[in-house]
Amino acid sequence: MAETISVMPVAASEVGAWDADTDVVVVGLGCAGASAALGAAEAGAEVIALERASDGGGASALAGGVIYLGGGTPVQKACGFDDTAEDMFRFLVAACGPDVDEAKVARYCDGSLEHFAWLVDHGVPFKSTFYADPVYEVLTDDGLMYSGGEEAWPFCDIAPPVPRGHCPQIEQRSGVLLMRGLLESVADAPIDVRSDTMVTRLVLDGDGAAVGVIARRFGVDMALRARGGVVVAAGGFAFNDDMLGQHAPWLVDERCYRLGTDGDDGRGIRMAQAAGAAVRHMDAAEVSAPAPPNLLAPSLLVNGAGQRFINEDVYHGRAGQAAMTRQDKEVYLVLDEEIFEANPSWLKITWAAGTVAELEADMGLPAGALRATVDVYDRHARDGHDPLFHKHPRWVRPLRPPYGAIDLRRGLYGVFTLGGLQTQVTGEVVDLDGDVIPGLYAVGRTASGIPAFGYVSGISLGEGTFFGRIAGRRAAARSA
Ligand SMILES: Cc1cc2nc3c(=O)[nH]c(=O)nc-3n(C[C@H](O)[C@H](O)[C@H](O)COP(=O)(O)OP(=O)(O)OC[C@H]3O[C@@H](n4cnc5c(N)ncnc54)[C@H](O)[C@@H]3O)c2cc1C
Repeated sequence: MAETISVMPVAASEVGAWDADTDVVVVGLGCAGASAALGAAEAGAEVIALERASDGGGASALAGGVIYLGGGTPVQKACGFDDTAEDMFRFLVAACGPDVDEAKVARYCDGSLEHFAWLVDHGVPFKSTFYADPVYEVLTDDGLMYSGGEEAWPFCDIAPPVPRGHCPQIEQRSGVLLMRGLLESVADAPIDVRSDTMVTRLVLDGDGAAVGVIARRFGVDMALRARGGVVVAAGGFAFNDDMLGQHAPWLVDERCYRLGTDGDDGRGIRMAQAAGAAVRHMDAAEVSAPAPPNLLAPSLLVNGAGQRFINEDVYHGRAGQAAMTRQDKEVYLVLDEEIFEANPSWLKITWAAGTVAELEADMGLPAGALRATVDVYDRHARDGHDPLFHKHPRWVRPLRPPYGAIDLRRGLYGVFTLGGLQTQVTGEVVDLDGDVIPGLYAVGRTASGIPAFGYVSGISLGEGTFFGRIAGRRAAARSA
């Protein structure tokens, strides 16, 4: 049986002697932890950063690298897009809801331009070119993309559509470049990085304040004192089956492949819960659609009744959530040969037919159901409209024979968790009464941040780095 290490907090009075003493301890060196360590060090604090893997990076280094920024960044301006913090706020509140923490969104939007400059200063370059096609992630070195469905209904009516997905300049998934820049900055800063070191428990004083951590390195436990505070930036809980089963059972499905690392085991969340922390939105998750955005947008996504249920050009994670939560994953993509040929993907046609009637019979759908759907779609598509779901005219045209359908009932959904510790804008963790637990901070996917239930690509790396810096500075100030 695997060894279970307790997450229960240790009383400071039980710590015989501290093995190290510093201002701020940071747990985890992904994008949020690296930014917290830098934020604290730039504020003059002594920092120890503890990472359970042999090097920093975490899920952040595996990421597509899209960073959600706006309000008129130099890249947006150079690409000819006007943006404001107010429009960005309106969009994020709508797209990341329901139950968004508006104070966090406002702080994020107001600070976005300064944060862009901070990232550039920390070795993260952006090319001022726009990538126009809908994709999960840009694999060219272009610097800007639509990453949240800003152009899609209803969001295009809520705020003027503007691209805000900023991609570090490299011809591959660019999370690696973000983390290279941040980790090189960490290495250049007076930050004591200790890898292969897993934080297991918090140390609390008699008043319940976090004053340190217990960490294990190669089987040896050590106690580290943090005079200002402990910033927990240990990722989410996608790789913890028990937590998923308890909080987000809809993700426990062989069709959900988990995005992240072994470090997303939820320990950061649980050790804070054990110290009295509240959690929020624990059932929420990013769920990428089982078909890529370029193929999804011009096609019809239908359910087991042969009916559409969403505008297919919406952010792919929104389509994925709708397919999982509202259609129980019984979904099909209906298209024609021209659409299929023009949009290369890994998917293969399951059924092909000369008429929609033959197609629906081959698919085993109720007679007439798909025909009715395609009839209505085509009738309005001839005029370039989609009155049922308001797909953007760019993607709307009548289907033409030969027709095809892709069976997505066995399709794969890439998932990671969005829920976590309840925090204030400062990153301070609150307890079940809503009171701050002194000295305890959480950022990145360990915390419940801007995405409440909805998600937009780029917000994890964006808010992780942004609120990481704030929490690091705050903990540093507390130690002064
Ligand atoms: C394939 C993929 C593509 C993605 N694409 C994007 C994208 O384009 N844009 C975007 O915004 N998001 C994207 N995401 C999501 C994003 O990468 C994560 O949500 C984000 O990186 C989380 O950052 P973090 O700092 O909270 O966690 P992480 O980057 O995972 O860092 C947490 C660190 O903490 C360490 N750790 C964990 N527990 C402990 C412990 N007890 N003690 C010490 N250390 C510990 C881990 O080893 C890890 O290094 C993607 C994710 C994946 C996997």
